[in-house]
Amino acid sequence: MSYLTLKNINKIYPNGYHAVHDFNLEIQKGEFIVFVGPSGCGKSTTLRMVAGLEDISNGEFLIDGKRANEMGPRERQIAMVFQSYALYPQMTVFDNIAFGLTLQGVDEDVIEEKVKNTARILGLTDYLDRFPRALSGGQRQRVAIGRAIIRKVGVFLMDEPLSNLDAKQRVTMRSEIAQIHRNTGATTIYVTHDQTEAMTLADRIVVMKEGYIQQVGTPYDLYYEPANVFVAGFIGEPPMNFVRGKVKGGKLTFGKNVLDVARKLGDKAKKYEGKELVFGFRPEHIELGARSNAYIVKAQVELTEMLGDNTNIYIIADDDKAILKVDPHDTPKVDADIEFSIPYENVYLFDGETELVIK
Ligand code: ADP
Repeated sequence: MSYLTLKNINKIYPNGYHAVHDFNLEIQKGEFIVFVGPSGCGKSTTLRMVAGLEDISNGEFLIDGKRANEMGPRERQIAMVFQSYALYPQMTVFDNIAFGLTLQGVDEDVIEEKVKNTARILGLTDYLDRFPRALSGGQRQRVAIGRAIIRKVGVFLMDEPLSNLDAKQRVTMRSEIAQIHRNTGATTIYVTHDQTEAMTLADRIVVMKEGYIQQVGTPYDLYYEPANVFVAGFIGEPPMNFVRGKVKGGKLTFGKNVLDVARKLGDKAKKYEGKELVFGFRPEHIELGARSNAYIVKAQVELTEMLGDNTNIYIIADDDKAILKVDPHDTPKVDADIEFSIPYENVYLFDGETELVIK
């Protein structure tokens, strides 16, 4: 049996706004689940319904098989870390971490042992006597996490916990969160709008858009088998390139280049004749020059961005544009006419109307 079950969960706010539609998900014990999607897609609302901070308008939420809709936040045995750390400024790190246990009247010796143990997991041992103002953003966030994990809870919820950190701290803290999860094994739901955070942390990712789940899967599944145009464009950096058009004679055009999509469509080619199609390929899945078993495209270089381990090339073919990711040593000059190949197996086709991938 799954540990957490969200069954047809809906949220309609008192002002009538329908923020979450028919959200269905089964979460196993110990899983690290990430909700990802653009701002306003309903991630926090869903998380807050799990936490018991927001009523569930419709549907059922089960913890370990028991209906939890009416349970208060405490009864759910859930701890939450917010983006603002909400530390007590007048308390030391030790007291901040110990706070929940102190309130519960736990024995001082037990508290001391637990705080020390938690501090060790989080690398805060040398900071226990400090006050929050004397800590970096990353350290403060670790204290906030410590305060949550010291309580024996079944589920750990995090809402954009890294958004107040600078880029470098975010990368460090990201790997620390992964490490903490390995050490504690706590079932975790983590909310972010950042696809890199989602890809690096999650066992499974839930991609959301406008209140609807778009796809649930492992990072590998979402990258290699996106269900629709939205997921394909959201996961991956730079995003997947899309060429949209009407199929004519089994073909699409990319600038003046003719793409024989019937080759990919096989038996379905007839069905798509005269219909809108989206042709997608990832910037990193191309090769410069003309190769066999590939769509070959001629284009002009508009701009190049040298990023160290790779170069992004912005190309244009008449009105169509795309980004290619290449080895810095192969970087063409701006304005150069180039030719590149998109191996057939690296091409995704999507129905132009439903935006669903064509399998
Ligand atoms: P996310 O976490 O993905 O950024 P939220 O879950 O915070 O999105 O919000 C989802 C949608 O619900 C947004 O359009 C937001 O404006 C709306 N919303 C959030 N809270 C309320 C509220 N209390 N009343 C009405 N609408 C709300």
